[in-house]
Amino acid sequence: HLLVLINDILDISKIEAGKMDLYLEDFNIDELIENVVSTAQLLVERNENTLRVECDRNLGMIYADLTKVRQILLNLLSNAAKFTKNGQITLSVSLFCPTNGAMRSAPNGTASSWIQFAIADTGIGITPEQQQHLFKPFMQGDASTTREYGGTGLGLAISQRFCQMMGGEISVESLPLGGSCFTVLIPCEVVAP
Ligand code: ADP
Repeated sequence: HLLVLINDILDISKIEAGKMDLYLEDFNIDELIENVVSTAQLLVERNENTLRVECDRNLGMIYADLTKVRQILLNLLSNAAKFTKNGQITLSVSLFCPTNGAMRSAPNGTASSWIQFAIADTGIGITPEQQQHLFKPFMQGDASTTREYGGTGLGLAISQRFCQMMGGEISVESLPLGGSCFTVLIPCEVVAP
């Protein structure tokens, strides 16, 4: 716990000092998902949850910051595992091309194809008021959440900054007691800032 706390504080300090850099490389999405799923498996099982993975076929390679994408996904999966008991967590990965009559619009920017990661759970959910503050550093649901579940309130703030650095975005849909779904969009070819 202390190590997570220290790493989170270092990350947010580095981001806010403008010293966090991107390391862009080509990597395979299937390999990333395999790695993330095996890392998260113990966390998922701790609360008697099950993890379902739904990946489009032939996702192929993307050009992005592998370590940051992995950190975003692990943070979202560990939150889903923490705030869900005896439930289901679903990680869905798909390609998203806004020109193909897509249901949602892409974030601002020039990317024409995006990779979309959605992490859905059947856990405690988040009220609309809490949703407005989730991505601010050190913000947690409320005092009772902190007491019951621990944590630092930094994971989502760091994840959002990482997405933005890569030209992507993160969003949430949730209902109290109705589970949560966090969606991350990252360009398939991230452009260095
Ligand atoms: P932490 O998990 O360390 O508290 P985060 O920044 O990752 O910090 O999350 C902030 C807050 O958002 C959490 O304290 C919790 O209240 C809420 N939250 C995040 N993910 C979920 C989820 N999947 N289900 C319910 N609440 C969540």
